[in-house]
This record gives sequence, structure tokens and C-alpha cells, in this order.
Amino acid sequence: MNRYLIISFFFLGFLCGQNGEARAQDMNYKELRYKMVKEQIAARGIKERAVIKAMQKVERHLFVPSQFRHLAYSDSPLPIGFGQTISQPYIVGIMTQLLDINSKSRVLEIGTGSGYQAAILGELCKEVYSIEIVEGLALKAKTTIESLNYDNLHLKWGDGYIGWEEHAPYDAIIVTCSPSKIPQALIDQLDENGRLVIPIGEKNVKSLVLLKKIDGELVRKDVIPVRFVPMIDERGKEY
Ligand code: SAH
Repeated sequence: MNRYLIISFFFLGFLCGQNGEARAQDMNYKELRYKMVKEQIAARGIKERAVIKAMQKVERHLFVPSQFRHLAYSDSPLPIGFGQTISQPYIVGIMTQLLDINSKSRVLEIGTGSGYQAAILGELCKEVYSIEIVEGLALKAKTTIESLNYDNLHLKWGDGYIGWEEHAPYDAIIVTCSPSKIPQALIDQLDENGRLVIPIGEKNVKSLVLLKKIDGELVRKDVIPVRFVPMIDERGKEY
């Protein structure tokens, strides 16, 4: 057989082989992810370089169920099972930017869900503590996060309404489910000059709120109207 023909067969085999396919798929996801960050994040006012880089890096498609993977970089929340959702990328971006964190920060997240937001935080800060109340989701997030080799993410199954006292105080706290009022434990566990980002409000009127602890007092800024899944207790009752 002619040398060129052998090389062509080899090349074709490589492209069609599983590795080739996986690589082509990955490249496609990477393109979609960069497009998402450009059009949904940067173009809508999220300018913090570190946040942009983290969102370009973390592979959102690994955090959604396989049947929704092709939609992983679309402009919307997606179902993750147990009636819960992974937040819309823009909401992840804006909440992360509001936290005003850096590589020295210690952050608490309430509502691990898929683990995507926790992974974004893991790229940006020193330690991340995240709590999820639905056991099935807590277990799934643990598996996903372990497969990605983050050693600064600490996950726990439990009720985030009472925070995570053991590691307090935190430089920043992010709540990705919505209670009607701010849980007192979260205020207590926030360090002086700390930031708490939380969607608060009654059923359909929720506001994304940034609170800063200054001289022990909370200074409140309402950022945008939002829709969020409710914060619930262990019996599923809404807080
Ligand atoms: N940050 C998540 C988004 C999850 S949606 C992500 O990146 O995928 C909000 C999550 O909050 C849901 O998984 C829900 O089960 C969880 N949740 C609701 N009430 C809670 C509570 N009291 N404590 C901890 N998690 C809670």
C-alpha cells in the first residue's frame, strides 16, 4: 500500500476513534463556553477579570444531567433533579462578582446544588464551604467535585439556614436559594467587612441583595429582581 494512503487511514482512524470524538466534543464545549462568557457575562457588565477567567475555565456541562448537556452553555437555569436547578450563568457571574473575593478569601455557600457555583468559587478563593439540604444532590455534587480534584472545596449535607459555625467567620457568604428573611446565623457568621449575597423576598417578588457588615451593622443594596428556588428546611417547608 502506498505510504500516503497508510497515513490517510491512520489520520481517519484517529478522527473517528473515540479519543478523536471526545476531543472534538470537548473543543465544541470550549467554544460554546467562551461564547457564553463573551455574550452572557462580559457583555452584560461583569468585568472582573478573575470571574471571567473562572467562568471560561469551569466546564458547566459536567455539572448538568447528560440529557441537558447540549444546553449547558445556554442563557438559562437547567434542571438538576429533585425539583432543583443550576442557576443561569449570568446570575452565577453577577453573584460571584458581588462577593468581591480573592485568593485569600474564605467563603460559605448555601445551596450546593450541582456544585457548579462552588467550583467557580474554588477557582477564586482559598477555602470554600458549601452546604446542600437534599441528600441526593449533596452526594452527586461530591462525586462531581471529587472527579475535578479541587482540594479547597468542602461540601456538607445539611440545613444551611444555620450556616456552618465550625469554620466561621467568613469573608463572604453566597446563598443560592431564597428565604423570605435573612437567616440570623448567616449574619453572625459573616466577618467584619464581609459580604453576604442573597436573594430575599416573598414567593414571586425576590430581590438579589448585597449586604456588607460595617462596624457590626449591615448595609443593604438591592441589586436586581430575580427568581430563585426557595430555601427549605429538612421537611421541605419554606423558610
Ligand atoms: N449553587 C447551585 C444552585 C442550586 S439551586 C449550583 O451551582 O448548581 C439551590 C439549591 O439550594 C438547591 O439544590 C436546594 O436543594 C438547596 N437548598 C434549599 N434550601 C436549602 C437549605 N436550607 N440548606 C442548604 N441548601 C438548601
